[in-house]
Amino acid sequence: MRVEIVAVGTELLLGQIPDTNSQWLGERLAANGIASHFHQHVGDNHDRIVLAFRTALARSDALIVCGGLGPTQDDITRAALAEVMNVPLERHDEIVEVIRAAFSSRGRSMSDNNLLQADVPRGATIIPQTRGTAPGLICPLGLKVIYAVPGVPYEMSDMFDRAILPDLLERQREAGETGVIKSRVLRTWGASESALAEAVGERFEELQLGGRVTIAFLASGIEGIKVRLTAKGNDDADATALLGVEELAVSALIKEKLGDIIFSVNDESMEEVVAALLSSHDATLAVAESLTGGLIASRLVNVAGASAWFRGGIVSYASQVKFDLLGVPEGPVVTGDAAEAMALGVRKLLNSDVGLSVTGVAGPDEQDGQVPGTVYVGLSLGEGTTHAALRLPGDRARVRSYAAISALDVLRRALQSSR
Ligand code: ATP
Ligand code: MG
Repeated sequence: MRVEIVAVGTELLLGQIPDTNSQWLGERLAANGIASHFHQHVGDNHDRIVLAFRTALARSDALIVCGGLGPTQDDITRAALAEVMNVPLERHDEIVEVIRAAFSSRGRSMSDNNLLQADVPRGATIIPQTRGTAPGLICPLGLKVIYAVPGVPYEMSDMFDRAILPDLLERQREAGETGVIKSRVLRTWGASESALAEAVGERFEELQLGGRVTIAFLASGIEGIKVRLTAKGNDDADATALLGVEELAVSALIKEKLGDIIFSVNDESMEEVVAALLSSHDATLAVAESLTGGLIASRLVNVAGASAWFRGGIVSYASQVKFDLLGVPEGPVVTGDAAEAMALGVRKLLNSDVGLSVTGVAGPDEQDGQVPGTVYVGLSLGEGTTHAALRLPGDRARVRSYAAISALDVLRRALQSSR
């Protein structure tokens, strides 16, 4: 069975709001082993909504339509449904009563346009509203079906769980189809999409496990490359087992070819991973930042509860501050030695278990004869202080963002290997 999602609303086309409904529905359908091959967006225009429904009905077995069920003039999903079903709209008195009661319980009077929400295409059944005022609709068309739900995300999700999903699963059972799709996102930092594809590429073909697993690479800007693994099993346990096998195989291939570049296996951000590692080491962290100007500290405090392990940071932007505050020896400051001195200095100054630092050239101009993108990350941990020398691509903004995540990655690797 194939399900198509049609999100109705001109604001979606204009990019005024992101279509989180389709995203949520896509995820829930996949998690329940229901295929959805197409998503459509259509504005609040009767003819185009009708066209979208007809297009979808030609290639899919079930449609989930969200949006345009409200009481205002641009809410025209109901009329489009009636046209596609070739039936009239009929006003349901019991829905009128529910809407009236909802208004009076909030001490508000109801304007007549709210009655439009009690109009139901003949032959459709309703999904009773629990939260908003518009009920959802289940519209049969021969063996196919259109479900229509309000656009408001919490009303949509409630009706999906309560009425649509059970109905879809029942239809799937009747059609003799079952299956559960599970996916997991590995996140990597430090390799290109093409390098990853190459590392996994050919060998992965052998591991397709009967075509029941797939792999996709998703570049996510300065946050590295995501590797999404998906497995389709007969049931939950089967899908979980397949996904486990797939994850082991893929992470081994990546590690063999590209080293320790996978920083998370459950889609966590770099700072969440670092936070978990610091907590498990029972260690506190202080940072000394030059070209990143506080970006690292800012990322770290994205994590709730950061005060348990984050002592704070020094933005030692001017060389003199590095000398005076952090004890960096006078001389060039874009060097590995300066990075180490910064890490050790901030560790002592802020009395933390770990010191992390970054110094480098963001550009556009050279500094101390070093080209933009030259970055040193210092790390002071346990008895040792070390540094990593990096060459980062891009303009000033990208170099600074890359430097911040790279520094966290240096710390992540060190903490993981000193477990
Ligand atoms: P209402 O009864 O509130 O008018 P409705 O069914 O008419 O509901 P819309 O008017 O299309 O739905 O959308 C109501 C609100 O729901 C929008 O202003 C928007 O905030 C949100 N919304 C609509 N569609 C989506 C979507 N695809 N993804 C996320 N939010 C959405
Ligand atoms: Mg509306």
